[in-house]
Amino acid sequence: MIVRLRHLEMTLQGLAGFPRPRPELEQYPTPAPLAARLLFLARSQGDLVGRTVLDLGAGTGVLGCGAALLGAARVTGVEIDPGALTVARENAARLGIEVEWTEADVSEFPPPIRDEVFDTVVMNPPFGAQVRHADRPFIDAALAHGRIVYGVFNEGTLPFLAGYIGERGECTDAFVATIVLPRTMRHHTRDRVEIPVECVRIRSLVA
Ligand code: SAH
Repeated sequence: MIVRLRHLEMTLQGLAGFPRPRPELEQYPTPAPLAARLLFLARSQGDLVGRTVLDLGAGTGVLGCGAALLGAARVTGVEIDPGALTVARENAARLGIEVEWTEADVSEFPPPIRDEVFDTVVMNPPFGAQVRHADRPFIDAALAHGRIVYGVFNEGTLPFLAGYIGERGECTDAFVATIVLPRTMRHHTRDRVEIPVECVRIRSLVA
């Protein structure tokens, strides 16, 4: 088990990323410093150690692997892209950790996880930049399947998020951060893109 923030950050930094990022799926890995910060917040709130964790849109497994490294009892990762899942499997194997990877759309959970309620959901969903409202099925699935949800969202999303969640949950914590992305996709016009984000902890009232 990892106990220091810096150690987790360095470990996640070493993971393999998307081989060919798919713009329509908004495949951006969560940068290691942000992933580590989010996961340490989750741990400090008692939401990771010994907990069951669901990683929605797991991608190459950064958040799910990090949760396992910090002492989650069991981690399940759901991802629609089989290519990303292959990388996630390799990342977990290299770290010597157990994660159940499931290929599925977050809006269509297959058995046996369809009926399971997880202690904690972690996710860095599409921001809806390519497909409008692509983040909504993630928010819906997270509230339905997890008691506590940690999500990374576009800056300025909080008011929308609170309205969209409505009576289904309440935001209990939030912090802002900046994601610096190297140019990975052809539609990027600059070498580096800085994206301000909001990380939010939500307590589900419907799971
Ligand atoms: N969680 C990873 C990846 C974030 S990128 C990380 O933190 O690094 C968002 C991921 O969501 C991509 O891997 C993309 O393929 C996946 N995704 C997008 N739409 C999806 C859907 N409807 N169902 C499941 N996964 C989806």
